Amino acid sequence: MPYAFATYQDASDLADFIAQKRHDVLNAKINRYPKRAFTCSDIHECDRYMIHSILDWDKRELHDAGLQAIFDAGNKEEENVKNRIGYELGLEFIETQSPFEIKNRAGEVIASGKIDGKILWNGKAVPVEIKSMNENSFNQINSLEDFKKKPLYRKYLRQMQLYLYGNNQEAGLFIISNFRTEKLILVTLDYGECESIISRLERLWEMKKAGTYPTAEYKPELCDRCPFSSICLADVINHPADFINNEELEEHLMRRDELEPLVKEYKDLDEEIKATFKQIPHAFVGTSFEIIGKEQSRKSVDAKAMPEDLRKQYERETTFWITKIKRI
Ligand code: SF4
Repeated sequence: MPYAFATYQDASDLADFIAQKRHDVLNAKINRYPKRAFTCSDIHECDRYMIHSILDWDKRELHDAGLQAIFDAGNKEEENVKNRIGYELGLEFIETQSPFEIKNRAGEVIASGKIDGKILWNGKAVPVEIKSMNENSFNQINSLEDFKKKPLYRKYLRQMQLYLYGNNQEAGLFIISNFRTEKLILVTLDYGECESIISRLERLWEMKKAGTYPTAEYKPELCDRCPFSSICLADVINHPADFINNEELEEHLMRRDELEPLVKEYKDLDEEIKATFKQIPHAFVGTSFEIIGKEQSRKSVDAKAMPEDLRKQYERETTFWITKIKRI
């Protein structure tokens, strides 16, 4: 039976329906869950975040529908990668989403996690973790060293190291995907790194049991996106507000908002380009750019490696002002 012709109104109503339903479906998936132990895929750089993540799981700020869509796409892509590498190459994925736990000396489970799976290879099972990312990020990651450049990627490293340690495995693979193709990055178990992550988790676990929080230390790259910032930085956010009527200031804030994505794009491109020219002392690109590079070294003190009591002797308190800018 032939269908009736759709009018402009029909198409417009359909568009509204899809947009609204899609939004509702994404929103219905957004939730928070209680946590008993630290999560191996979320070993954050901020000690205070780690305590909030368990003691204040119910106050965690929920993410929005846009981020949920990215999570959904990542989960779907994990399946796609398993198909491309497993089914199409004839490799078998086993023990997918297998859970693992990290215990402290007292035998308490202080962290738990999952690994995406293992690939059977010559009768042995090689652990793999699949991470999907946008094209810019994908281009920036070519080695394990590149994972150390951003807080999010450093979390991936900690997750993999804990998995290898918790399962007594010597090595595993990161499979990173840009939703079309993959890069494979080999990770070997680093006992020194694992010891340092686990002793940090043990220390934080004791704080969690005592219900104590480390002092908040404002770091824009961590705090500005932190889902606990409204309780952690409550003094800053909940202070009674002044109302300022100043058009020029408002315009500057608008312009700042417009420029923000460009800064991120600039930083991503800058990192990608500099990674391309690493180890190249001199090059010309077309007729417009000359690139000059050289190796330099500098000495610094690794304060984290110092014994706690020695570090305390050199601690001093400084005061600083935090400015958080939020579009309303
Ligand atoms: S707001 Fe900053 S200091 Fe507070 S928990 Fe989050 S990352 Fe840590």
